[in-house]
Amino acid sequence: MIRNNYHTHTVFCDGSDTAEDIVKTAINMGCTEIGFTGHSYTDIPDEDPFCMTLENTDLYIKEISRLKREYEGKIKILLGVEQDYYSTQKTDTYEYVIGSVHYVLKDGVYISIDYSKQVLIDAVNRFYNGDFYALAEDYYNLVGDIYNKTKCDIVGHFDIITKFNENKDLFDVNNKRYVDAYTKALNKLMGKGLCFEVNFGAVARNYRTTPYPQKEILNKIIENKEKIIYSSDCHNKENLLFGINGDNIYIK
Ligand SMILES: [Zn+2]
Ligand SMILES: [Zn+2]
Repeated sequence: MIRNNYHTHTVFCDGSDTAEDIVKTAINMGCTEIGFTGHSYTDIPDEDPFCMTLENTDLYIKEISRLKREYEGKIKILLGVEQDYYSTQKTDTYEYVIGSVHYVLKDGVYISIDYSKQVLIDAVNRFYNGDFYALAEDYYNLVGDIYNKTKCDIVGHFDIITKFNENKDLFDVNNKRYVDAYTKALNKLMGKGLCFEVNFGAVARNYRTTPYPQKEILNKIIENKEKIIYSSDCHNKENLLFGINGDNIYIK
């Protein structure tokens, strides 16, 4: 069985390893392909930035292109990007795009959805009167619009809003408002030939015990005969193939 990963971060954004180290690891692990997807630049002010700077974006493109040539015949290297919903960067240079929502813009403030539980709780109290479902509705409105906005090939971590909800203490994923919100987003994205990610990033980093999206959502995606792709959302080379046990045949 071929095991490859197409959602990979490096030191050019918030990953801990160089692209070349990851390529070497991939070869050692028996991968036939590796796809890099640096976080696209955004001009959103963030105390703990995870995106590529403009300078690093150029360096990233150059380095992955160099590695492609250097390792030709040993492994196929793809140059992709994880395009944030709010990024205005062009994506023409890339061979494929993962479209991801990491922020919700509310009352002029970008709320980080996946930074920490406390940030999320504070934001819900400050902007939504403590109503998590109202935040979830805004979040899924963006997710439903991710293809329009980014022309992505792959929908990244569909329900990352559950990252800090492992103990189900923030909200109930069976609440009707929550189910309606994600169903609306799903219905907008399905039938377009997109690939939906089964993302193990939060499992690899010990936030969650199950990948995104939750079972009910994944089942709807599968029932609808949409394409899925397994990814480790790799931020360090040891976890390059974390959770991946399928053959990622669906990437274009
Ligand atoms: Zn992401
Ligand atoms: Zn990622």
